[in-house]
Amino acid sequence: MLATPLITALRHASTSAVSTGRHKIVVVGAGSGGLAVANQLANSFKSEGKELAKGDIAVVDAATTHHFQPGWTIVGSGLRAKEDFARPTDSLIPEHIAHIKSNVKEFSPSANALVLESGETVGYDFLIVAAGIQINYDKVKGLKEALARPLESKVSTIYNYDTCDKTWDLIESTQSGKALFTQPFGPLKCAGAPQKVAYMAHDRFKRTGRIPGVGVEFVTGLPVMFGVPHYSKALDALRQEKGIEADFAKDLCEVRVDGSDRVAVFKDLKGEGTVEKSFDMMHVVPPMGPLEFIKRSPLADAAGWVDVSASSLQHVKFPNVFSLGDCSSLPTSKTAAAITAQTPVLVENLRKLMETGEVGKAVYDGYTSCPLFTGYGSLMLAEFKYGGVPSETFGALADQRIPRRPFYHLAKDVFPYAYFKHMVKGEWYGPKGLIPPVFPA
Ligand SMILES: Cc1cc2nc3c(=O)[nH]c(=O)nc-3n(C[C@H](O)[C@H](O)[C@H](O)COP(=O)(O)OP(=O)(O)OC[C@H]3O[C@@H](n4cnc5c(N)ncnc54)[C@H](O)[C@@H]3O)c2cc1C
Repeated sequence: MLATPLITALRHASTSAVSTGRHKIVVVGAGSGGLAVANQLANSFKSEGKELAKGDIAVVDAATTHHFQPGWTIVGSGLRAKEDFARPTDSLIPEHIAHIKSNVKEFSPSANALVLESGETVGYDFLIVAAGIQINYDKVKGLKEALARPLESKVSTIYNYDTCDKTWDLIESTQSGKALFTQPFGPLKCAGAPQKVAYMAHDRFKRTGRIPGVGVEFVTGLPVMFGVPHYSKALDALRQEKGIEADFAKDLCEVRVDGSDRVAVFKDLKGEGTVEKSFDMMHVVPPMGPLEFIKRSPLADAAGWVDVSASSLQHVKFPNVFSLGDCSSLPTSKTAAAITAQTPVLVENLRKLMETGEVGKAVYDGYTSCPLFTGYGSLMLAEFKYGGVPSETFGALADQRIPRRPFYHLAKDVFPYAYFKHMVKGEWYGPKGLIPPVFPA
């Protein structure tokens, strides 16, 4: 049995599978972070022989389908069907965790409550926010329309379930001309994906005799290939070796498609005005930013992210609130891999807070990983922590900046398998995989 008075109080508050009401722990979001943390918390109680009442932990999310989003690069590269990476959300939430099938409209952290879009109120003792990032299609004029149109618009993105397979069709249907791949200025999930898809397309064009007929160009809002210097130089050398052109500090602001007249307009971030580029196909990574409902809430920092301590993941103003994943203010690259390392830290610190009234001493060091597909059969495994300091799992054995086949299979085959088998079940503990970290008492 759970020993604490807090839990006993909770048990009285949630004696049945209520979908609203009051819960001990409410997790907002049933994505990578929400599922991992809800399940790891439940597992931690169970492993100590502490019984959880149904509904002690509740996950709030209206989404009926859960997606393994890193798989969308694999789909866009023609290696798997997109359905392989989708699961009904319900199938990933075990019986003992309640699933509230509505989205959150607003937070009232002073009242330990949140309001659902359905109008109902949910109370909590502890809150974890893991609601992801917002994709701002509207910030690029004409983008939404171009993405929604069939293949002949020649514009696609792997950042959306609906179009990730269109990307592959687009690559396959491009016989000659200019293939543009864009990366926006500003925050995004998986900062390596915009160039991964360019390398895969280039390799496909090459293997099928379409190079040099197709010219590949990567146009990025960043002044460099990648935000971490250790990998950026190697990536720049790699793309030059492949013959991929690059244009830096250019941010896509408009897409014009009129029959066979296709133009991408970029804001020149170094100069003043804009730059126009014609294209025969374009892969766009749309701008992203914090979700509106978080941005306007008392939980947000000035930029709109959930304002948590970079080391403990506890909210800076509301001690019973934690956050992880893409919606958090954690100053690291937003990836599912980062979430694997954030989850055990959050669980430890929250459990200690629940039991002793003091937050635990577990520290998140910013670990994140970006597996950069560089072609069919090769991958550069970038792993780093806060400050862009390399934190490589295989660093003692190999220079991870050199693309390798084993890394490719790790990202293409092992990670997707481990994600559904272990990560969303709360059984993945960062770079050490299935081995839970030991934290200071
Ligand atoms: C193309 C692509 C490639 C990627 N490649 C990699 C990779 O190789 N490696 C890697 O580690 N990561 C990769 N990522 C990033 C990774 O998928 C994300 O970082 C990760 O999914 C973030 O998890 P999250 O829980 O923060 O958000 P998500 O998994 O996006 O989940 C957020 C959840 O919150 C829910 N939600 C939203 N609003 C509300 C609301 N108002 N109320 C309740 N619920 C709400 C959503 O429905 C969703 O279920 C990639 C992502 C993409 C798109």
